[in-house]
Amino acid sequence: MGLMIEDFRNADICKKLIKQIEKEATKDVYRFMEVCGSHTMAIAKFGIKSVLPSNIDLVSGPGCPVCVTPQCEIDALFEIAEKGAVIATFGDMMRVPGSKGQNLQKMKSEGCDVRIVFSPLDTLKIAKETDKEVVFVGIGFETTAPAVAGLAIMAEKAGVKNVSITPYNKTMPEVLSLIISDKNLQINGFVCPGHVTAVTGIGLYDPIVKEGMAAVITGFEPVDVLSSILEMVRQVNTEDFKAVNMYSRVVADEGNAKARDVINAVYEKQGCWWRGIGFIEESGLAFRKEYEQFDAFRKFDVTLEGDDEIAGCSCGEVLKGYIKPTECALFGTACTPQNPVGPCMVSSEGACAAAYKYGI
Ligand code: SF4
Repeated sequence: MGLMIEDFRNADICKKLIKQIEKEATKDVYRFMEVCGSHTMAIAKFGIKSVLPSNIDLVSGPGCPVCVTPQCEIDALFEIAEKGAVIATFGDMMRVPGSKGQNLQKMKSEGCDVRIVFSPLDTLKIAKETDKEVVFVGIGFETTAPAVAGLAIMAEKAGVKNVSITPYNKTMPEVLSLIISDKNLQINGFVCPGHVTAVTGIGLYDPIVKEGMAAVITGFEPVDVLSSILEMVRQVNTEDFKAVNMYSRVVADEGNAKARDVINAVYEKQGCWWRGIGFIEESGLAFRKEYEQFDAFRKFDVTLEGDDEIAGCSCGEVLKGYIKPTECALFGTACTPQNPVGPCMVSSEGACAAAYKYGI
């Protein structure tokens, strides 16, 4: 019988791993970054930071899709909603504030047609029931890009013409390059995003190990996370850096070629804005000519006007790993999950929301 989920939450195994980390982590500082919002939440939920020795510093990176979506893209979405489109979105986007304080939830209460969907393909069903244009909010990384691209392919095949998609999907290699070249950060290793790797394959992390940093792909249970930390400590100690896949129950080393083909059939690379990080060449996905009829920007004549931070919000600094959420002056006072100022407090994968919810 294979391992069960309980095995990855086993307290005795966790205690042994913590003891081993304490024993082997002999350097002054080990600084590891998790590049996935789900890992941020798992680390907070299971209290991982509180059981690690003080010389192991865990920082969050730009892995929460809602959080890295820049203000200009959020405002462009609201412009499209105001132009009369039906907006189909995952629930996480509902309370992300625009630069004028509006959000999709408020706009819905004021008459805009906003629907929460659980899959991009739900958009097709809505489109078949209305004459209005239905816009799916296509955000996320390589993980969601195949399903979003699949919506364009299915709509094309079914001849559904009143569907379009915001071209907000982003890709990981370019932002990772930026982080590993940032000398301010001094990262020793990365807890790599499992679901992204399931599509890209572990070759994504070659640049990390070439730069002398550890890279471990792992799952979201306490045993997964603690095992990945022990592996990174060992790689740092021995300076034998390699991408290690500790999540082979879900992730194949070579990733998923079919999913990559679907992405490449619909999209091509383009530069795009990241919240607080700026414009990164080749880090976004634009519709290829054959699918440009699904580009919501073309249909609604919308242009992006650069990134603008929300006054007082330090999401950009949090996403770059420069500060911890609790170091933001608004954390827990002016900014709470009930009254979020920035997307890092709204999203269920946001570092600020995780820190607030679990009191870290
Ligand atoms: Fe932005 Fe709120 Fe996080 Fe501060 S606590 S960085 S204002 S989301």
